[in-house]
Parts: sequence; structure tokens; C-alpha cells
Amino acid sequence: MSGTLYVVATPIGNLEDMTFRAVRILQEVALIAAEDTRHSRKLLDHYAIKTALISYHEHNEEQRSAQLLERLQAGESLALISDAGTPCIADPGYRLVSRCREAGLSVAAVPGPSALVAALSISGLPTDAFRFIGFLPAKSHGRRKLLEQFNDEQQTIAFYEGPHRLLACLQDIVDVCGAERQLSVARELTKRHEELFSGTAAEAVAYYAAGKVRGELVLLLGPAAPRKPQGTVKEELARLHADSDLSWKQVVKQVAKDFGLPGSDVYKESLGLREKE
Ligand code: SAM
Repeated sequence: MSGTLYVVATPIGNLEDMTFRAVRILQEVALIAAEDTRHSRKLLDHYAIKTALISYHEHNEEQRSAQLLERLQAGESLALISDAGTPCIADPGYRLVSRCREAGLSVAAVPGPSALVAALSISGLPTDAFRFIGFLPAKSHGRRKLLEQFNDEQQTIAFYEGPHRLLACLQDIVDVCGAERQLSVARELTKRHEELFSGTAAEAVAYYAAGKVRGELVLLLGPAAPRKPQGTVKEELARLHADSDLSWKQVVKQVAKDFGLPGSDVYKESLGLREKE
């Protein structure tokens, strides 16, 4: 019988955010693969977990995955943790999990904290659907190019960002997505200086320009305001068809939504344009 790889979430700041199951699994497994063993030792000591630790990070993922796979195949159960939050979410682990799956080995989630979900849950922004982008590009040029894609995005978009880049990033959002775009910044979640900023992009620039930004943060860009159609239904149909890769069916659906009209009415309007093609 081969063992199980447990992917175990750990606190993102407050050590009390450890689940009972996470503690038990970390006590029971033969070995814990951790991003930074010294960092994780503090958490394990806090819970009197004596299990051996081995490093698993982006620079040794390939080689370590092979070793860990061998131990799983030999029947040992192992745990994977990262420095904070849920492994594999903008953290190492994906390769190991993927190799385990390919080898038919059992992988089980021990869910718990993640900065992404914690930030979304308290932001007040729509969360029925959202996009997670991970870390934003470090340079302004790359960042702006990426942000351009979100100009009309109707879902909340979540980014991880470092405190030293926040202001430059907010300035790029003002320039690319507009000063009025709603956003939230969730900083130092679950820690003593936890803070949630909510407001427009311009307000955020003013707020964070006033002092040095510290700590860890998640940036959430709210959905773009619905586009206001400029001309008549026919003009909008023609414009959207010419400017996008959308099919006629999708164009009709979008225009009906933008004008608040029944799809059947807009469909009739589109017929004349389609015939001309
Ligand atoms: N896997 C982790 C998770 O599930 O939360 C995320 C790992 S990623 C390498 C680290 C980033 O998560 C930080 O740079 C920051 O953007 C965000 N983060 C982690 N802890 C946080 C906290 N307490 N408050 C706000 N953001 C946090």
C-alpha cells in the first residue's frame, strides 16, 4: 500500500488559525516537506509537533519530488506545507502534486487559511465569480499590459503584491483602469495591524502615498462599471462585431445586456447587418 500526500494549509499570520485536523495529520505523517524548514519549525514547536522536516522549494522541486514520490510509493504518508496559507496557491507544490497524480498516488487536502480567500471574504466586493492572477509583473510596462486586459472585466480580480510596489501599482491602475475603479487592499490579515482599505483607485493612491506601506497584502480590483452604449442598438452591434472576436450570438447577447433589452429584439436588429456580410 502506498502512502498519502497531505496538502496542509497553515496560518497566514495568526497561529490560532490552525485546524485540529492539520495538527493531527502533521503529527502522524512520516515527514513534512516545507518551503523553509526554519520558518515552519516555529509553527510546529508551537503545536509540539515533532515530525521531521525536509525542504521543498522552487529551487529543489524537481529533485525533491522524485525523493518524496519514492517514499510515498514505499508506503509512507507525507505532508506538504508552505510558509503560510495553502500550498500550491502562488506557492511551491504543484509539481509534486502533479507527479503524485500521474503516478496514481493518493493526494488529500487538509484545507485552511489562504490570504486570497480571506481577503475576498471581507472585501465586500462581488465574489460569486472572481479571477486570481497571482503576483503582478514587477515592472510597470508588464503590469500595465496585464491591467489593460481587465478594463472591462466584470469579475473581481485578485492579485498578490508586495508593500514596496503597492503605490506604483495603484498608480498604474488609475492610469489604465481609471481613477474611479473600485478596489480593496487587505493588509496584514489575521495579524495585529490587519487593515482593509476600500475605495476608488484614486483614493487608494492618496491613502497609501501618505506613509510607508508595510506588511503583506492582497489587492482586489472590483468589476469594471458596465459599459454604457454610445449610439443606437444597430451602431453598437456593428461596432462590437467589428472590434471583437465575439460571434454574432455573443454580440447580440452583450448588446441586449448593455441596453437592457430582450435578446429577441436585438437579434431582429442584427439580421440586417448579418445579411450585408
Ligand atoms: N499560499 C499562500 C496562501 O494561500 O495565502 C500565499 C503565498 S504567496 C507566496 C504570499 C503572498 O500572499 C504575500 O506576498 C501576500 O501577497 C499574500 N499574503 C500572505 N499572508 C498574508 C496576510 N496575512 N495578509 C495579506 N496578504 C497575505
